[in-house]
Amino acid sequence: MQGELRLTVDGPRWSRLLNSEAPVEEHDTMHEDPWVKSPVTLGTESLDYEVVENSAYREDQAQRGRWHRIHYAAIKWLFALLIGIGTGLSAFVINVAVENFSGWKFIATFAIMRHSYFAGLVVYVLFNATLVFSSVFIVTNFAPAAAGSGIPELKGYLNGIDTPGILLFRTLIGKILGSIGSVGGGLALGKEGPLVHTGACIASLVGQGGSTKYFINWQWLRVFKNDRDRRDLVTIGCAAGVAAAFRAPVGGVLFALEEVTSWWRSQLLWRVFFTSAVVAVVVRTAMSWCAHGNCGHFGSGGFIIWDISGGQDDYSFYELWPMAMLGIIGGLLGALFNQLTLYLSSYRRNVLHKKGDRVKIIEACLVSLITSVLSFGLPLLTTCTPCPDPVRYPDIVCPRPSKHYGNYVTFHCSSENQYNDLATIFFNTPDDAIRNLFSTKTVHEYSAQSLFIFMVMFYLLAVITYGIAVPSGQFVPGIMIGATYGRLVGMLVVSLYKKDDIDEGTYALLGAASFLGGSMRMTVSLCVIMVEITNNLNLLPLIMLVLLISKAVGDIFNMGFYEQQAHLRGIPLLESTPKRFMRKLSARDALRANKVVNFSRIAQVSHIVAVLCSNNHNGFPVIEELPNGQTLVIGLILRSYLLVLLQSKADFQDTPIAGDDRGRVTIRYSATDFVKPVSSKGLSINDIHLTPQELEMYLDLKPFVNPSPYMVPEDMSLTKVYNLFRQLGLRHVLVVPRPSRLTGLITRKDLLLPEVLEETSTELSSTRV
Ligand code: ATP
Ligand code: MG
Repeated sequence: MQGELRLTVDGPRWSRLLNSEAPVEEHDTMHEDPWVKSPVTLGTESLDYEVVENSAYREDQAQRGRWHRIHYAAIKWLFALLIGIGTGLSAFVINVAVENFSGWKFIATFAIMRHSYFAGLVVYVLFNATLVFSSVFIVTNFAPAAAGSGIPELKGYLNGIDTPGILLFRTLIGKILGSIGSVGGGLALGKEGPLVHTGACIASLVGQGGSTKYFINWQWLRVFKNDRDRRDLVTIGCAAGVAAAFRAPVGGVLFALEEVTSWWRSQLLWRVFFTSAVVAVVVRTAMSWCAHGNCGHFGSGGFIIWDISGGQDDYSFYELWPMAMLGIIGGLLGALFNQLTLYLSSYRRNVLHKKGDRVKIIEACLVSLITSVLSFGLPLLTTCTPCPDPVRYPDIVCPRPSKHYGNYVTFHCSSENQYNDLATIFFNTPDDAIRNLFSTKTVHEYSAQSLFIFMVMFYLLAVITYGIAVPSGQFVPGIMIGATYGRLVGMLVVSLYKKDDIDEGTYALLGAASFLGGSMRMTVSLCVIMVEITNNLNLLPLIMLVLLISKAVGDIFNMGFYEQQAHLRGIPLLESTPKRFMRKLSARDALRANKVVNFSRIAQVSHIVAVLCSNNHNGFPVIEELPNGQTLVIGLILRSYLLVLLQSKADFQDTPIAGDDRGRVTIRYSATDFVKPVSSKGLSINDIHLTPQELEMYLDLKPFVNPSPYMVPEDMSLTKVYNLFRQLGLRHVLVVPRPSRLTGLITRKDLLLPEVLEETSTELSSTRV
């Protein structure tokens, strides 16, 4: 049915001006579309990774000489360096702060505990609650996008989906300060995920030359203004974050490749590699500076150092079955963890957090209280363990004088030669606790009962903690849980085979790998991160085995942790493989609008405004009517371009006559004028002010369209369309009938004839000038 559609225009100004004069062709409106109502598509917009090769862009490219290209490449490398330095320093700042806050907390608690356990508990609870409160307060009042790990949103961003606010300066600050509070406050979470987000924010800010809003702005850095270049930088930032969090440069590169990006280019690989190396150098330099006591409690602690260099060098065939069992346990517990966090996050999102910021703050403080009481109370209830025989194990320092890091923590044990094994895990920063769990030279340090209690409790704490409004990462809880059951299995193996060369620490490491594999479903990057940190290549085949099994088992039950969370947040991720049923469908079957909203080449301004007001689409095909009555698709125009044209008004013309467009565009616009800044939602139709006379005028859209949008024949299989979409990071694909005319055919050999092509290109540029 075709007819006039009364406009539902936002704001009285446009409805008054446009009232009845701008008929718009009827089309499927957003409200009738069942897809649009689904949580997956609501409120999200895609990024423009495709190059819009309009006249402005072509002129821009033609003017670029050799120096321009060198300058462009040099700036990219400089940015890679700056991202590396920035992320390395952020990791350092977070670590120094967390270690010091934790150190003060443990020292104060231990000192007061000597007089009264209750007073010790109160101090401990208050210390933690204050830190967690500061974190949740910053997040709720200043940087809402800093909550959570940020990895699902970044995965979405690099998949082509824009989540407003995730890369802002305030998010960066919120992330850094928030993770200091949440990790220092002893919650069951880690700083690794937030560091990835921190790296990405730094990358985005560097790319746009700082933050205009906060007056930290370097104009000379404003080189990359388009989504494509930003995507490169954000990828570099993600890799830098992992490299800084684990001190694993190659792991960082692989994490970006395997987990967060949907596409890859070899030039980018070089830059990512470079940045990760820079991060490694920055972190190492900072740590060696701190080793001389310059950084308070930071120095011997901080950063996950898996001290298992003295661990198992070899393994026997009979050990493979318990290791495979670890993989199965990891897969099961990981999948269960994903499911439980999904249910809880969904409840929080849809019910609890809708009640306002105050509820979020109370919830975080409550979780902090539960965590503190449990982690203080449970060690108190356990009996003290006698230290290992000092004659047989002269290297072991036991009990440690009430220090806040290291093995064999005394806690409440009064006798000289005793320690508290549960306190050894609880009264440490997460990184140090992990180190204790993995440590190899400690003979049977933990009792099976303590490990079991810790595992169950920490698992539940990690489930309830993920999703509160503080920055939180899932690597550390995953490693802690996995290391605990890994060590338990190790103890079982030792008692079964009674062999001295079987090491519990090695099993703890494999357990950690299995839980991360079962929950996050990463393989190569996790494996390399583990090997980089443990410095023990001998374990490589075992880690690979465990990761493969746990991923396979987890995949039977549900999606990976980040995919599930992305789905819950309504981020329409295109996963790596299309669904099977798509093979039976064609592009035509995916079309849901009866009629495409398009523009003719010469469009009246009032019509453009009316169309932009009547829907939220971002891409519109542009059609030209030929003298013989046929129509021709001359390209696709983006909403952002139309808004820039309407705002500038420079191209408005009085008559609907097509002009000669060459040269005009260059004078008025450069290619970068049309892209929206990362820090805002860009122009909106409500920002445009036009007089009634201007509304009567016309615009020739031809010079501004993307003349070569991707088009597919309507009977192309949907699987092919899906792969095209994902691999090229597309936003719109036009579906056309089978073409009737043929110009020619290109094979790969035609693209590999540089002399011929270069000659043609020079000829073309000379004729254009
Ligand atoms: P994105 O949301 O990915 O940034 P977009 O904003 O251009 O792209 P939407 O308007 O959000 O696209 O798409 C919602 C629905 O509207 C989809 O089903 C899509 O097919 C349809 N749609 C998009 N553009 C047009 C158009 N120009 N004419 C008709 N239907 C359209
Ligand atoms: Mg949209």
